[in-house]
Amino acid sequence: MYCDSIQYINFRNIGSAEIRPERGVNILYGSNAEGKTNALEGIYMFANGRSFRSAKERELIKFGENLAAIKLKFTDKNRSHELEIRFSDKGKRMFRRNGVCVARLSEFVGSFRAVVFCPNHLSIVKEGPSARRYFLDSSISQIKPAFIKTLQRYSGILEQRNSLLKNYYDHKTSFEETIDVWSEQLAAEAVNVSSERAEYIELLNERIKELFAVMSGGEEVPELSYSKARTAEEYLSLLTGSIEREIKAQTTLYGPHRDDMDILINGREARLYGSQGQQRSLAIALKIAEGEISKEFTGEYPVFLFDDILSELDERRRDFLLSGLDGKQVIITSCDRSSAGSGVCFYVKNGTYTALQ
Ligand code: ATP
Ligand code: MG
Repeated sequence: MYCDSIQYINFRNIGSAEIRPERGVNILYGSNAEGKTNALEGIYMFANGRSFRSAKERELIKFGENLAAIKLKFTDKNRSHELEIRFSDKGKRMFRRNGVCVARLSEFVGSFRAVVFCPNHLSIVKEGPSARRYFLDSSISQIKPAFIKTLQRYSGILEQRNSLLKNYYDHKTSFEETIDVWSEQLAAEAVNVSSERAEYIELLNERIKELFAVMSGGEEVPELSYSKARTAEEYLSLLTGSIEREIKAQTTLYGPHRDDMDILINGREARLYGSQGQQRSLAIALKIAEGEISKEFTGEYPVFLFDDILSELDERRRDFLLSGLDGKQVIITSCDRSSAGSGVCFYVKNGTYTALQ
């Protein structure tokens, strides 16, 4: 799918502007604080309904104004669509698809798909497991909407079980009567979550290995795996075997909410031993792989929005990543035009975007 045009009115520092990206690589370049990330943030709003900077609505409206609007025209399977979001400083939002109001966010998101990378996403490689779980769960949900329900069921049961553990001393009898049932239900649902994740990690693993093989000439070999793939019986025996520790901790100690994805580079944990450039390449490669998998499931590539991916990478990696994005629509931000390669350039200045020939 392709983003054909995006219009902004009073969005962040953009008073009024329109960008018409080409269907290949597009580079938004300019100095710091001119509106490069803001432009990507606006586009991604249509994929997720929310800002990837997790900003509050009010922060998205240009200082001193009380209304903002963004409008996206995109093509999917040769059909054009138009989406619009309006925000008011009273916290009201309005969504429109092809001119018709859509009441619920869940009906609005999903038609336009994008993969976003911003420097915060380095946390997927560099930090603790929760960033990786979030990445996995949201990527799977994009291609398999039923997975959202699976996650909801799991966290519903987890919440109940945690509340039993928390109130153990006040409600010992009801604890004794019900804990086994909750443990069984949790273990059964745990496998539904972990098996989807493990399957998705396999898909990522294949793609990321290919990407790295080409990029590093075979010198760097990444390996992804689900850290603790378990059967329902294994989950259950962990749960029943650790009740005393759980009562002490007042929470459930095992399950997909604690699981992780291991990311190795040449056999060692990338988080601990990877160089800055390796970690960045891994995070970006994960996002490219996410887009590849999305294409396999939906038939079309999502739009790739890459904020500041070129810094810290040597020339070989830059060239490789840009070539890896060949044939896809990509919008990249950069402070530096020379890193643009053969892409179409837009010069960004104080919330304006000028296409350069
Ligand atoms: P960098 O290269 O440093 O990442 P950038 O071009 O990506 O810069 P943006 O993050 O897009 O910069 O932000 C540009 C400017 O937008 C900043 O100066 C910021 O103060 C301003 N800004 C943020 N929110 C608003 C708002 N609600 N109204 C007006 N200006 C805003
Ligand atoms: Mg920026």
